[in-house]
Amino acid sequence: MTKAVAPSQPAGPEVTKAVEPSQPAAPQLTGLAEREPSTGSEGADRDARREALRAAPTVMVSACLLGEACRYDGRSQRSERVLAALEGKAVIPICPEAAAGLGIPRPPVDLAGGTGVDVWAGRARALTRETREDRTAAFQTGAQMALDAAQRFDVPVALLKEKSPSCGSQRVYEAGVLRPGEGITTALLRADGRTVVSDEDL
Ligand code: SF4
Repeated sequence: MTKAVAPSQPAGPEVTKAVEPSQPAAPQLTGLAEREPSTGSEGADRDARREALRAAPTVMVSACLLGEACRYDGRSQRSERVLAALEGKAVIPICPEAAAGLGIPRPPVDLAGGTGVDVWAGRARALTRETREDRTAAFQTGAQMALDAAQRFDVPVALLKEKSPSCGSQRVYEAGVLRPGEGITTALLRADGRTVVSDEDL
């Protein structure tokens, strides 16, 4: 279960509300955009994402980046750069995997057969790294919960942790190899027209 995170810095971001877990049915989506609209230049695309973040009054953020110990290994990924970038903004923390009830700690998961867009298209799955158990439905549930929160709070931008099978936005692990692409939550947020910024963009 995701809970509100209170960054220790007094001038840090205002954390608005945690996302409460529920068990919605995993959506069957069609028509997902393959990628965000691109200018064709990696640097220009990153600048555009940074500008979207600067302009957003409210931002959805991977809870692990805020200091919540919700990673698969029970650790956090607190980032001072992320906290600084969120100063003065309202923050909606989300950990799609914990919110979907996958537990902390939990077995690490890799994408198989493609990346997040491919999962929603039914061409790829989310499998535990060691035992190859299928976690696709739970990952989709967590992604849907993130989207529900983004819509409820009218959040235009999400700042998410790179390389995660849920939150990655530029690179994710597929079958143990880091490759270009996005995670399952990122793909869903982008398909709904929201901008996803990587912590590595900062
Ligand atoms: S990267 Fe996303 S899913 Fe993974 S621990 Fe952080 S918030 Fe949770």
